[in-house]
Amino acid sequence: MNSISIAIHGGAGTLVKGQMTSEKEAAYKTALDTALEAGYAVLREGGTAVDAVEIAVRLLEDSPLFNAGRGAVFTAEGTHEMDAAIMEGKERKAGAVSLVTGIKNPIALARDVMNKSEHVFLAGEGSVLHAKGLGYTLESPAYFYDSLRYQQWQDIKGTNGFQLDHSIKKESKFGTVGAVACDKDGTVAAATSTGGMTNKKWGRVGDSPMIGAGNYANNKTCAVSCTGSGEYFIRGVVAYDVSCLMEYKGCSLEEAALEVIQNRMGELGGDGGLIAVDAKGNIAMPFNTEGMYRGCKNSEGKKIIAIYND
Ligand code: ASP
Repeated sequence: MNSISIAIHGGAGTLVKGQMTSEKEAAYKTALDTALEAGYAVLREGGTAVDAVEIAVRLLEDSPLFNAGRGAVFTAEGTHEMDAAIMEGKERKAGAVSLVTGIKNPIALARDVMNKSEHVFLAGEGSVLHAKGLGYTLESPAYFYDSLRYQQWQDIKGTNGFQLDHSIKKESKFGTVGAVACDKDGTVAAATSTGGMTNKKWGRVGDSPMIGAGNYANNKTCAVSCTGSGEYFIRGVVAYDVSCLMEYKGCSLEEAALEVIQNRMGELGGDGGLIAVDAKGNIAMPFNTEGMYRGCKNSEGKKIIAIYND
C-alpha cells in the first residue's frame, strides 16, 4: 500500500537569510502549514489527490504573502495577469489558464477548464468569459493589491526590465505556489498558480500554466510542480523531464528530481526548484536557490515546513 503524501511550495529564490525576521518567517511558515494541513486532511479522509492539491493552492492564493491570487505581482501596465494549471495522473486530464484577471482563485478556474470544457488551456479574455459563464464573480483590482508588490513594480516600472520576484536580493516577498499529492489509490496530482514576473509585458507567459514545463502528473511516474525562472523551465520541459527520467531510464523520484534541478537546470543557467511525489507516496523537493518555501507531510509520520537549506 502506498503512503498518502502531499508537498507544497510557495516559491524558490535567493532569499537573503539575514533579511528574514523571525516574525516574517513565522508568518510564512504558518501560511504554509495551514495549506499543507488542509490538503493532507482531504487525503486522510479518503479524498482525491486533485481535491487535495486544489484546496492547498487555493489557500496559498488567498494569502497575500505569495505571488498568486491575492498578492500577485504587477504587470508593466499595473494590472495582475495570473496563470495556473492542474493535472491528475490517472487519466492524465489537465486544465490550465493564462493571463487571467479578476479571478480570485485561478486554480479553481483551471480545474473548471479540465472538468467543464472540452479544452486543456484557455488564455486571456476567453478564459474569463468561460469563468463568467460558470457563474464566477470577478474581484476588483483592489482585491489583488499588495503594497510590497506595488513597490517592487515601482522600482522597475518604465524600464524594459522584468523581474522574477524571487531574484530580488533585498527584502521582498516571494512566491509562485504549488502542490503535489498522492492519494490512497495511488493517484497523483499537481497544481501550480502564479502572478508571473513583476513588470512583465507583451502577454508574457511563464512555465507555471504549461503542462509538462511547470506542472505535470502521471500515475506511472510522478506529479511535479515547479517554481523558478520560467523561461528556463519552459526550455527544459522540466516537469515532464522528471517524469521521463523515471519512465524511460528507471530513475527513482529522488534521482530524477535532483538530476533535473541540479544538473540539467544548472547547464541551462536556470534558477529554481520543484516539488514532486510518486505514486508510492515518495516525496522530493530539490532546489538550486538559497531557499524555497516548502512543506510536506505523509502517512508515515514525516512532516517538514522549511524555507532554507537546513
Ligand atoms: N515560474 C514562474 C514564472 O516564470 C515564476 C515563479 O516561479 O515564481 O512565471
